[in-house]
Amino acid sequence: MAGLFDEPSVQFAKVAVERGVDNFPDGLTYGIPQRLLPLHVGQLVTVPLGRGNTPTQAWVLKISNEPPNLAQGKELKQIYEKERDMVNLPSDLIDLATWMSHYYFAPIGPTLATMLPGPVRCGTGLVTKQLVDLAENPATEVRITPKQQGVLDTLAAMPKSERPVEPAKLMKLANLGSKSPIDRLIKHGQLSCHRVTRIEATWFKQSLDATKPEQLTDEQSLALDAIGDELHDGYSSHLLFGVTGSGKTEIYIRLIEKAIAKGGVALVLVPEISLTPQTAARLMGRFPEKRIAILHSALTRSQRHQQWSLVAEGKADIVLGARSAVFAPLQNDQIRIIIVDEEHDHSFKQDNAPRYHGRDVAIRRAWMAKCPIILGSATPSMESWWNATRRKISTLNKLTTRAPGLVAPTIEVVDMRKERVHGEVGYPILSTRLKTAIHQTLATQGQVLLLLNRRGFAPWIACASRTCGWMMKCEHCDTSMVYHRKKPLEQAGYVRCHHCCTEQRVPKQCPDCSKKVIQLGAGTQRVEATLRESLQIPSEKIARLDADTTRKASDLLAMLDRFGSGEIQVLLGTQMIAKGLDFPNVRLVGIIDADTAINLPDFRASERTYQLVSQVCGRCGRGEGEATAIIQTFSPEAPAIILASKTDYETFAMDELQFRQQALVPPVTRMARFILKDHSFDLAAGRAKSLEDRLRSIGGEGIAISEAAPCVLPRLADRFRFDITVTAPTSKALQEFLSAVRKNVTPSRVITIDVDPISML
Ligand code: ADP
Ligand code: ZN
Ligand code: ZN
Repeated sequence: MAGLFDEPSVQFAKVAVERGVDNFPDGLTYGIPQRLLPLHVGQLVTVPLGRGNTPTQAWVLKISNEPPNLAQGKELKQIYEKERDMVNLPSDLIDLATWMSHYYFAPIGPTLATMLPGPVRCGTGLVTKQLVDLAENPATEVRITPKQQGVLDTLAAMPKSERPVEPAKLMKLANLGSKSPIDRLIKHGQLSCHRVTRIEATWFKQSLDATKPEQLTDEQSLALDAIGDELHDGYSSHLLFGVTGSGKTEIYIRLIEKAIAKGGVALVLVPEISLTPQTAARLMGRFPEKRIAILHSALTRSQRHQQWSLVAEGKADIVLGARSAVFAPLQNDQIRIIIVDEEHDHSFKQDNAPRYHGRDVAIRRAWMAKCPIILGSATPSMESWWNATRRKISTLNKLTTRAPGLVAPTIEVVDMRKERVHGEVGYPILSTRLKTAIHQTLATQGQVLLLLNRRGFAPWIACASRTCGWMMKCEHCDTSMVYHRKKPLEQAGYVRCHHCCTEQRVPKQCPDCSKKVIQLGAGTQRVEATLRESLQIPSEKIARLDADTTRKASDLLAMLDRFGSGEIQVLLGTQMIAKGLDFPNVRLVGIIDADTAINLPDFRASERTYQLVSQVCGRCGRGEGEATAIIQTFSPEAPAIILASKTDYETFAMDELQFRQQALVPPVTRMARFILKDHSFDLAAGRAKSLEDRLRSIGGEGIAISEAAPCVLPRLADRFRFDITVTAPTSKALQEFLSAVRKNVTPSRVITIDVDPISML
């Protein structure tokens, strides 16, 4: 009987179905027909899947010459098609994906899909060109004019490697005034025509910053020597703990210099694009002769394709990018050093599957590539601090003082409980102290940075009556609706849920008691309005930087440019402004509400608060003159706030680790979180309970399983959510437990599994 696949299979491939959620650890085997050769590991192919042989995209994991042992009567299916050769992940990334898929409990297909940027896959920006060459079997008996002969001679004289050639180039070389001799030669079969599709990549040109400090500080030299000594081949891990402005970037630059001196690539990860322009400018400025590829989502689609291809073709010396740049298309032996700047930053964790942490994947990549990795931060994550100080699996290098020329800011804490104005409802947004400081700074031509980690105008809409207690909630989530103004100085607005993005009109009166509704609390829009209305700062001098004003990356860059040039005097924003901005004229930093994270029911609430406060305070004092940071808080006695105001990270970390040890939470233990969702509360509760029972029956030494309970946000987008957390004494114990779980639990739309979760909401 003639099968569906009549061609003989010359080789055999194991593939992972891209959308597949089932874990076939070894993949599915297909035959490779001759016409698809050469086929590579890491290539995207289309295979027939299931009974209907539905064409399905899959990744090649392995290729072998040995046919598989098939069960009797089973026919080996064949790969249908392969994608363009350019759509190809380096084979070493397949190994990384295999590890990730296992570690993060995510199916391998989607994990591989995460690694290949969309624009590369879609071929965005590909250019198809027509090229010509000498025909292999040219027609004889054709009359050839002297000009045409000139073309043929020119081509024949060219080395094979430079052919085929673009007609325009050939015209020049053969001194032709028109293309018609070439066209005629093609028509008469003397020349062959080739169509070639490729990405035409160019390197970025940016304003450069070539400043090089004359001399390293003693601490910098010490750290550089200590890490530099270990830059030989082989894996090593280093934590560079340096207060903001202590010159960590300078150390990265010198380490990169050393590491790539013998060829090879430096991979540099930064948390978000707002950081990249300055870091990129500094790297480019200091490595003018090196080629720097930039990978992040704010580029245009064809730029992303171009930059990725440059890296894949081995043309880049330095690769700089955000989280997903950890998947730069490099083979292990190309990578010489990996640097993760601001390693504590939560944006390194992806919040959909695969739920990987860019820093931790980077550590694994360095281990696979046998190269050093440097994690840098002024406020290291508890995980990295634990690894460096207790587990001693990475070396600790400290920079305790700011670089010469930079002053540490004076940090003041303002107790907002004392700021209540007699006869007024609630508390003012700006304390008297902060208002005065803003005026003083602006009067002396300094710039001001204000942080409020809350978008919108007012976070709550409530009934004015004290006895009523009505508050506007999202119809689909257990969260309050946030009031947004359409324009900063207009009253008109709407309310929006920040979780499901539902928008509604604001009710005129309380639905329960018909009293008036009021707007409570403050978001960035309200601060902006206050600056204009009560501090009389002109609109054009203020900019607000949050997710609402920077939908496009170009908006963000433009805003930072205007701040850098001094056109904007007050930059106000959410945590986006806390990350690595370096503007020398910022002489005042104000934290409007340091408590936004402090009361969250999350064991990292204190760590987050310390990091945010400390990082924002570090944004000032980067130029001449004195600098002040003012922290407004309702909990001035909270250790995170007191210690951040003293820049005493080590005491904070010591106390915090002690708390984590008592509570048996990460980094002292390792955690996985199972979240169950359903449209019905009872179904979700039932599922959660039965999963809890299954997990308990698996158990294991030192494994602690929490009771299934509604999440902190029990309902989001009409789905009820329950969670179960599992902790284990070590990563190995947790992985063993998860391996056992894998045999009877599959992640799906109703079960989310988050390994090393960083958010507990
Ligand atoms: P960090 O990354 O730790 O916040 P940076 O590397 O950005 O610190 O350094 C802060 C500023 O200090 C930069 O403008 C940098 O050029 C400068 N700087 C760094 N090291 C030195 C040094 N040894 N001498 C003088 N200036 C320095
Ligand atoms: Zn909602
Ligand atoms: Zn009411």
